[in-house]
Amino acid sequence: MTDWHTKSGEEVQDSLQSTAEGLSSELAQQRLAENGPNRLPEVKGKPAWLRFLLQFHNILIYVLLISALITALLGHWLDTTVILAVVLVNAIIGYVQEGKAEQAMQSLRNMLAPNASVIRDGKRQTIPATDLVIGDLVLLEAGDKVPADMRLLKAHNLSIQEAILTGESVAVNKNTDRVSIDAPLGERSGMAFSGTFVGAGQGRGLVVATGAATEIGKINRMLGEVEQLTTPLVEQMAGFAKWLSALILVVAGILLIVGYSLLNYPFTELFMIIVGLSVAAIPEGLPAVLTITLAIGVQAMARRHAIVRRLPSIETLGAVSVICTDKTGTLTRNEMTVTQVQMPAQDYQVEGSGYAPTGAILDEQQKPLQSTPAALESAALTALLCNDAALHEQQGQWSIQGDPMEAALLSFALKAGLNQQDSHKDWPRTDAIPFDSEHKFMASLHHDHQGNGRILVKGAPEKLINLCTRVQGADSTNEIDRGYWAQQAQDMAAQGQRVLALAVKEVPGEHNLLKMQDLDEGLCLQALIGIMDPPREEAVHAVANCLSAGIKVKMITGDHPGTAQAIGKKIGLQNTEKVLTGAEIESMDDAALALSVNDVDIYARTSPQHKLRLVMALQSHHLTVAMTGDGVNDAPALKRADAGIAMGLKGSEAAKEAADLVLADDNFATIAAAVEQGRTVYDNIKKVISWTLPTNGGEATTIIVALLLGMSLPITALQILWVNLITATTLGLALAFEPTEAGTMQRPPRHRHAPIVSGVLAWQVVLVSLLFLAGMFGIFSYANARGDSIELARTLALNTLVIMEMFYLFFIRHSYSTSFSWQAIKGTPVVWLMVGIVIVAQLAITYLPFMQQIFDTRPVSLTDGLFITGIGICLFMVVELEKQIRLRLTSFN
Ligand code: ATP
Repeated sequence: MTDWHTKSGEEVQDSLQSTAEGLSSELAQQRLAENGPNRLPEVKGKPAWLRFLLQFHNILIYVLLISALITALLGHWLDTTVILAVVLVNAIIGYVQEGKAEQAMQSLRNMLAPNASVIRDGKRQTIPATDLVIGDLVLLEAGDKVPADMRLLKAHNLSIQEAILTGESVAVNKNTDRVSIDAPLGERSGMAFSGTFVGAGQGRGLVVATGAATEIGKINRMLGEVEQLTTPLVEQMAGFAKWLSALILVVAGILLIVGYSLLNYPFTELFMIIVGLSVAAIPEGLPAVLTITLAIGVQAMARRHAIVRRLPSIETLGAVSVICTDKTGTLTRNEMTVTQVQMPAQDYQVEGSGYAPTGAILDEQQKPLQSTPAALESAALTALLCNDAALHEQQGQWSIQGDPMEAALLSFALKAGLNQQDSHKDWPRTDAIPFDSEHKFMASLHHDHQGNGRILVKGAPEKLINLCTRVQGADSTNEIDRGYWAQQAQDMAAQGQRVLALAVKEVPGEHNLLKMQDLDEGLCLQALIGIMDPPREEAVHAVANCLSAGIKVKMITGDHPGTAQAIGKKIGLQNTEKVLTGAEIESMDDAALALSVNDVDIYARTSPQHKLRLVMALQSHHLTVAMTGDGVNDAPALKRADAGIAMGLKGSEAAKEAADLVLADDNFATIAAAVEQGRTVYDNIKKVISWTLPTNGGEATTIIVALLLGMSLPITALQILWVNLITATTLGLALAFEPTEAGTMQRPPRHRHAPIVSGVLAWQVVLVSLLFLAGMFGIFSYANARGDSIELARTLALNTLVIMEMFYLFFIRHSYSTSFSWQAIKGTPVVWLMVGIVIVAQLAITYLPFMQQIFDTRPVSLTDGLFITGIGICLFMVVELEKQIRLRLTSFN
């Protein structure tokens, strides 16, 4: 049935057998079993055989395949086989890594699966959105992604962004009205549709369609977008690899012409050499290894609780130079406890920790209260009723639903002797203005059963102190002394407490709609509540870590400047003397703000639009900005930041959607870990490139030089093919698994747009290519001079090449520190596995008779073996020495 929008809420409720208490768990289970989970059908991926075939759809592979064809026509079957083996091994690796990458993306998607707030068995619960069934009573609030199609039963200032369905970018206002049957989707104001975003307000509705039956399911758009595992850098490198291949082909063509017409090589021999050269020089494995490096990076981040939503951000994270972070929950634990209640006549201390409502309330003489005074009880009632959280007890364990600060208020109200159920029954809520980080308070309207009405308000003290005209004394109300109360709030905040004010206004029974104007007059301040939220210990270390990595850390909070400053000091921020408030930011123009941001690290009482301005101000100094956020209004700042980071636990779906990275644990330490991982990924990409280009370069120059000088080749085309088959897929790949280098977080951030193939890398390619050339020609000439057969001389050169590649790998692993350390020599299991495979393969090609026949090799004596190893060590020493000199020279600059 799709005419829910024409029915009233009650009709829908009846026909779906739901009640004001929601569904019963049994009925929900039964419906889930009948209708299946609330999930869109997966978009079918390409079949495995097609994915495998697509691995060959690559210009580099075409070149190799054509070479294989020509060698076959020329009757060089062995060469054909080895070239095909190179192609096949590459395709298999590509296929496997693509599968792994897809799995990685899939598990990330699962980690980001949204939850839904429902009422079942009369209790508010958070369940995975996939478990929703028809008839479920769902609560919606700003920032939520609507989890299923719903008929709205209540809507308070509710507006929903339905662009995904209707293309309309302006949020539409929702109510509970019925509309005519032929109303288009965009005009069905009494409905909320799966996949759309709640822009503002609150609402509740009944699920009328789930999974594929929803409107979005019908067009099945969301899962259609499968993200490619790539980043601008990797794309750039893949492009580079293609250009390089084209260049190599041109060089090969020229050599073919020159060799045939000027140097008079026999065509077949020349052609084979050129094929060897092309295979040697084309970095055919590079794009695949880079993608694997990314996939490993994404998984490593997920293990550290950082879920990458947009892959390019891995690169950006490694370049972050300033992190702007929220306070609550990110730098602090978000485990709140009410510790102080400041009232006009008394100042109470509240004992106990956690959310269990056990702990005495002490008076000013530090004596536990025997009974709760009326004024305190009335304040506790405001704390309990003007509240959307829930506290549950199960086998002595207290758990919370909703905002931890509100849960702390509930716990305090219970310590003051109130009962959750009774209070709600005595004073049912009639209307509410939900909390918004813009206006920084929440208000609710209640009526008892004797015809009395009450507006209850809780919020930031500055806001409420200004709204209130009176204060609640022990027996009567008095006129408010605003200066005094502002000072009290300031003193409490200076101790690092979060301060909240409570206020009340009596209204006539017939007043049953709550409007902002109702708060303009007659509000009476009840109490200031001090709430402790201790800093996270790991955040202290992480902040220190960031500072040593040259990354500035700025706290941007909605909290009181005093609280922000006290926490900032505890957490180890740098500039804690000056705090910039939202009001001050507002009074500045962009230029003035850009000037101030350099030496202010704490921003308090900010609203989301200030975050956007701060991001832009920091970016104007060419900083790479990471910004955290959780609310729906944070989305623009998250999008604008170079790396937008959303909170996985307390963050709204809208913020997660806008972010590049989601923190599964909301913890600042995770941001630092993600930055470290981002730097590691970038380093590894660089290492893969730094290893591949010079080794390919060395092989290619050896052939070119021999060809042009008319010398016998120190290594045959077939042997070159073998080396590529064996090393490119083992040694090159090992670098993708490199762990974080020591000192990674002691380096200043790299410039975001710094080219990866820098001057240093280009110089390294030249130097190492020449060293490879010298090593191979050196041993080849030495063997010739000694009177060895050309076959043995080539076997020595072949082994020297592979040994040099291995030693060069150990060198590349440490780009920023010495490779002469136990740590460096110890390597990693992957490195040794790969080295082991290469050694076994080399022993096989050198000593196994049938391999000797195929590759024309000869056994190498032990002394020669040691000599070759010595050449590898020499290469290592030379490049290491060069690095040490270079590192020292640059550190002097
Ligand atoms: P951060 O921005 O670091 O997360 P925050 O949680 O203090 O800090 P906001 O959520 O914007 O930032 O809250 C701003 C202020 O609004 C709080 O300091 C508090 O005074 C008030 N406030 C927060 N939550 C509520 C709520 N649920 N009801 C009423 N007032 C609230």
